[in-house]
Amino acid sequence: MFIDSHAHFDLCAEDHKTSAETIISLMEDNNVTTAVHIVIDTTGIQWGLDFINRHADKNIYIAMGIHPSSLADSEALHQLSVTIAHSKKTIPHKIFGIGETGLDYYRMRQPKSMQIESFQFQIQLAKEHNLPVIIHSRDAMDDTYSIVKEYAPMRGIIHCFSGNHIDARKFIDLGFFISFAGNVTYKSATNLQQAASYIPMDTMLLETDAPFLTPVPFRGKPNHPGLVQHTYNYIAALRKISLSNCIDNIAQNFSNVLKLNN
Ligand SMILES: [Zn+2]
Repeated sequence: MFIDSHAHFDLCAEDHKTSAETIISLMEDNNVTTAVHIVIDTTGIQWGLDFINRHADKNIYIAMGIHPSSLADSEALHQLSVTIAHSKKTIPHKIFGIGETGLDYYRMRQPKSMQIESFQFQIQLAKEHNLPVIIHSRDAMDDTYSIVKEYAPMRGIIHCFSGNHIDARKFIDLGFFISFAGNVTYKSATNLQQAASYIPMDTMLLETDAPFLTPVPFRGKPNHPGLVQHTYNYIAALRKISLSNCIDNIAQNFSNVLKLNN
């Protein structure tokens, strides 16, 4: 049924003051059969791998990377690259991509130069392992695009897309997927909604980015992967397609990403 292509199970469990296992039950109760757990820093790597191994029987995938707001010194980048190389050997069918990485000029928690170096490093790592890069870009669309273009051809997903339909087009032309989070359902998100109604359906993914950006009608409450259905409903209505058509399209796109990974 529903797929959540970007969630942070560790942060969700913290936010809900419960276990990651309870977050999985919430997800399953809501017909979400598949999800990707996203690691954002080196301290989250082991937790993420243990989590994936504990639930090896489920359709839960992992993406590992260093978020632009996390420390990305040479030791951290080295640890990431060793982990990816090892995991590609031991759990290749569970690896969804490298990330999230990217640029965040809004929070600017790390210096611009560190963000850029880390982003470039992770793009190279992804290319080396034939994995897509999961990109976070906030107030940095132009720099994100020019860096990505330098490394093209490459595979990637713009997660929690925050640009307009012109930005979306540019990334789609490079072969990227555009992933929308719960904020596309917000009244004020007219640029996002325009992008979501405009892009080809075979370039779209949907996600919660839980515990952040809870979709309407639960905006303001803690988010979890089980709530991704509200974003599917919204997109189906926006695109004037049936919910089942929307579900099928997203499932096809998700499996297209995975198919190219091995
Ligand atoms: Zn995220």
